[in-house]
Amino acid sequence: MSYRVGIGFDLHRLVEGRPLLLGGVKFDGELGLLGHSDADVVLHAICDAMLGAAGLGDIGEHFPDDDPELEGANSADLLLRVLEMVRRVGYDPVNVDVNVIAEYPRLGPRKDEMRRRVAALLGITSERVGVKARSMEGIGTIGNKKAVAAQAVVLLELRAGAGSI
Ligand SMILES: [Zn+2]
Repeated sequence: MSYRVGIGFDLHRLVEGRPLLLGGVKFDGELGLLGHSDADVVLHAICDAMLGAAGLGDIGEHFPDDDPELEGANSADLLLRVLEMVRRVGYDPVNVDVNVIAEYPRLGPRKDEMRRRVAALLGITSERVGVKARSMEGIGTIGNKKAVAAQAVVLLELRAGAGSI
């Protein structure tokens, strides 16, 4: 069996008057994430980890932030497109692990929901998705609620019968 591992990182600014989506789950409140798409840092980090693992470049190459078609794009749709690209070269996701680094919002009560949402998008069971929340102890850009960041690691497995690339 052939495996590939990939790592992803993303960060978006927290601002007033924007939606806040993390791992495809909507959070209500006065602050949201600034970006060309819906700025879901968790899904973007997972996209990059999957693309990296499959040797397919990065999210900025596939979904440039000056593409008018991607304005306000739903990052769940982007993740599904990445999943399709990865499957096309013979790989399926095995598991995903994510660190969400945020002082705002409070993630604890919603972590399971985020796991289930990411698992459903990737077609894997939710025990194969880890979502861990970290604060920055009130220090720095993230600690001062100016941004949210996410790190993701993804393991891909070569599908039985698919040739190695
Ligand atoms: Zn992003």
